[in-house]
Amino acid sequence: MPVNSQGRLFVISGPSGVGKGTVLARFLKDRPDVRLSVSATTRSPRPGERNGESYFFLGREEFEDKISAGGMLEYAQYNNEYYGTPRAAVESWVREGYDVILEIEVQGAMQVRARWPEAVLVFIMPPDFETLRARLSGRGTEDEQTIRKRLSAAVRELKSAGDYDFVLVNDTVEGAAQALGGILESAKYLVKTNQTFIMEVMKDAEAEPVAN
Ligand code: ADP
Ligand code: 5GP
Repeated sequence: MPVNSQGRLFVISGPSGVGKGTVLARFLKDRPDVRLSVSATTRSPRPGERNGESYFFLGREEFEDKISAGGMLEYAQYNNEYYGTPRAAVESWVREGYDVILEIEVQGAMQVRARWPEAVLVFIMPPDFETLRARLSGRGTEDEQTIRKRLSAAVRELKSAGDYDFVLVNDTVEGAAQALGGILESAKYLVKTNQTFIMEVMKDAEAEPVAN
């Protein structure tokens, strides 16, 4: 089995309220070898969210300066607010051998796929649409208008599930966290995460004198 000295990059998307944050928190509790990227955003903190932990909360100008300086691996606008992945932490964690997870929306995910082709993309689905609606309003962190906007964004986002490598249904938190572990394990065997290894063996094979 190829030994990777570098970590792998994972992208997790799914409609707002599907349970991405909840499942990831459960999963990461047992996985010190996996790091979650802390995104930057211009949206306001929700109660209990702390700068540098949930997000880096930036002003619009500050965010745009970071984009211009090439500091974002990807970024997108969602509900008229910027969201983006600071590049430096992700690159150094992957170099150090950690698997890194980005929890980002679909436009950002497509940018990562283009710029980092070995990244493994996972889409989290609700068991059904009604459950999504119930979870989103049950969270109680958004007003009715924001919930409606997020549900219509969800319809658009669900259409992108086909562009991902894996689909994961968040039925129970425990089950979804376990399935995510299975996906990280399976990702070791994907062709796209083994390109460097395949190339190395090919190079040695091609250097072998051909027997006639
Ligand atoms: P996201 O990060 O995708 O926006 P959250 O993790 O904030 O979603 O979850 C939205 C709401 O759904 C929260 O109130 C959370 O407790 C609840 N939730 C998440 N996963 C489940 C699950 N498997 N079963 C029941 N409720 C869940
Ligand atoms: P929320 O406001 O609920 O925290 O996040 C709204 C949406 O933004 C979610 O779909 C979340 O996955 C996405 N998001 C969070 N961070 C990033 C990021 O760094 N980049 C992109 N493109 N989306 C993000």
